[in-house]
Amino acid sequence: MKAVYFERCGGPDALVHGERPDPVAGPGEALVRVRACGINRLDLFVRAGLPGLEPEMPHILGNDIAGEIVAVGPGVTHMKAGDRTLVNPTLSCGVCSACANGDDNLCRSYDVIGRRRNGGYAELVAVPAVNCLPYPENLSWEQAAAVPLVFVTAWHMLVTRAQVKPGEDVLVIGAGSGVGSAAVQIARLHGARVIATAGGAAKLARARALGAHEVIDHATEDIAQRARALTGRKGVEVVVEHVGGRVFEAGVAALARNGRLVTCGATSGNKVSLDLNLLFGRHLTLLGSWMGRRSDLNDALRHVASGALKPVVDSVRPLAEARAAHERIEARQHFGKLVLVP
Ligand SMILES: [Zn+2]
Repeated sequence: MKAVYFERCGGPDALVHGERPDPVAGPGEALVRVRACGINRLDLFVRAGLPGLEPEMPHILGNDIAGEIVAVGPGVTHMKAGDRTLVNPTLSCGVCSACANGDDNLCRSYDVIGRRRNGGYAELVAVPAVNCLPYPENLSWEQAAAVPLVFVTAWHMLVTRAQVKPGEDVLVIGAGSGVGSAAVQIARLHGARVIATAGGAAKLARARALGAHEVIDHATEDIAQRARALTGRKGVEVVVEHVGGRVFEAGVAALARNGRLVTCGATSGNKVSLDLNLLFGRHLTLLGSWMGRRSDLNDALRHVASGALKPVVDSVRPLAEARAAHERIEARQHFGKLVLVP
């Protein structure tokens, strides 16, 4: 099969488009013909090399897979060859107490397809059959492949962790990112007033079109100051953050009394300073959030199926252009998801 893979970690130029052996569906697995595969920022981190992570080598990235089942391994009964599927990217043991409690994202063996085991930057991929979800028939392949990882992450952040409520002010950092574009919609779906940040007039207009009530240009404006001005000095009840560094600090400064900041990333810096007087004096809660539960994805997918939540596709490229797609994300030129089609 044709695939994009790498044999050593590095920059976008480590990605090679070439031939790899066809994978085989083992017991409990399904072999999927990939019709579209979404790109996530996680792919860029795995490609660059994460401390302690030893990916299967040569490594094929790709968490978000939409495609058709070609064959199923022994023991698989709920899917068959010819079925269309959207693949849940999350992996967990299924038997530990965290999994039994439905907190599968807290499973000690929790992982994501394409992180250690090979993923969907390929014509074919073998995945655990339990990950093969019914296909959301209202979506194209490219749209479907833009859904799973960012919607499970954003749903877990806003609904499960921050417990967003109708009427609250929610500040979404980086509406142009995959998680940000999902968070704007999920906050709006829950009746919140959404203030979104983005860089530049074009991205701000897209954030408004997605459902943001107010926008802040994070390239030229002071996020905390603007968020306070837009809320009559009160501040926001919830901040959705994934950038880190100074942006995290601005997020904390933007919080109202009893506010919650939820973070799932630190792309621009993982060390921050925190004023403890603010933390206790304003009764704040800081929440870490790692991916999400299967149930979070199921909940989000119900609203994707109804059309209330829509995947945001920046652009679709042939698999062979994976390198250029990574470069576009690193240059922060995108709004929404980049999708590869074999
Ligand atoms: Zn488990």
